Amino acid sequence: MTDFIDDTVGFIREYYGTNDVVPLHVPRFVGNEKEYVTNTIESTFVSSIGAYVDQFEETIADISQTKCGVAVVNGTAALQVALRLAGVRQGDEVLTQALTFVATANAIQYNGADPVFIDVDRDTMGLSPRALERFLEEYGEVRESGCYNKKTGNRIAACVPMHTFGFPVHLDELLTVCTEWNIPVVEDAAESLGSFYKGKPTGSFGELGIFSFNGNKIVTAGGGGAIVTDKVEAGEHAKHLTTTAKKSKSYEYFHDELGYNYRMPNLNAALLCAQLEQLDDYIENKRLLAEKYEAFFAEKGVAFRTEQPNTRVNYWLMCIELENRERRDNFLEQTNKKGIMTRPIWQLMYRLPMYEDCLRDDQQNAEYLEDRIANIPSSVRVK
Ligand SMILES: *Cc1c(COP(=O)(O)O)cnc(C)c1O
Repeated sequence: MTDFIDDTVGFIREYYGTNDVVPLHVPRFVGNEKEYVTNTIESTFVSSIGAYVDQFEETIADISQTKCGVAVVNGTAALQVALRLAGVRQGDEVLTQALTFVATANAIQYNGADPVFIDVDRDTMGLSPRALERFLEEYGEVRESGCYNKKTGNRIAACVPMHTFGFPVHLDELLTVCTEWNIPVVEDAAESLGSFYKGKPTGSFGELGIFSFNGNKIVTAGGGGAIVTDKVEAGEHAKHLTTTAKKSKSYEYFHDELGYNYRMPNLNAALLCAQLEQLDDYIENKRLLAEKYEAFFAEKGVAFRTEQPNTRVNYWLMCIELENRERRDNFLEQTNKKGIMTRPIWQLMYRLPMYEDCLRDDQQNAEYLEDRIANIPSSVRVK
């Protein structure tokens, strides 16, 4: 194990060409970022109205191959609003995975609904269509007004798969199950901008999808998010709700429903527009690193996660799977001590006090992965 750690540290140091601390993932601003941000300041349109917000919305619709893109203040807010638009209401249940970042579950709870945790697949690390089907066969009942949990009596209002670290879930199988049970899908594609499943971008499969542009994501707005959808009406409603539901044609302060101040500022959109121009290059760069990691870890007999057939992955955060928890934790401790930032995958949501009483299935695969997965430095390398 010591040799393995030293060799890994050496490999990563050589790749990034540094003896300093190697972070897990840092943003890079080597394109038009300064120019666009300066333009924004000079124009004085730094806030919720401006050319870059509009440009960003067109670009994100383009990249995700959807009809509508809506700029939102962050990914969590985007998911909260997307769930509301999918019909999630107080007292509903929403099916999702326990192996995720806390924002997925929080966005469900902000709508007054409860997350129900369904197991993941080991290969994708995302929501398992088979586990979902098993759960629905035991608990589900399709009625005229939608799918219900026949044991709790609550409506099952939506299903939220999350594409862990950019690796798409088994979307075809998942959509088949959700269609059969009449459950709308909202994709948490916060981590998978630029990933494809069977040639189609993640985020475009559900009724609505969301992305995040937080500082640690593949491209960043400083903070930001987006809702994308093919349902034009839902897209327009998303824009309305995230801009305080103000009727736009009048200068009167008239708001026709309870909205939110969730619009992405133009200043952030300026940074993001410059970042998105480089997305393809970033992904190419990361895919090269993934190839190098794959070869390196193969020689060490350690499983480096690579893309499934029929997918093309953005390799946002790369990871390895170690034999057991003890070896994983030892790897984390040793590498961090030597200045290489590595991180465990998230603790499962039902370990957190807010979600410990939520309904869940057996979670075999989620618990397996929770013990074994470690993220390794994945930043774009600037030559
Ligand atoms: C980052 C992230 C979010 C939230 O995005 P923010 O922009 O940080 O609010 C939601 N879900 C997942 C899975 C994420 O990784």
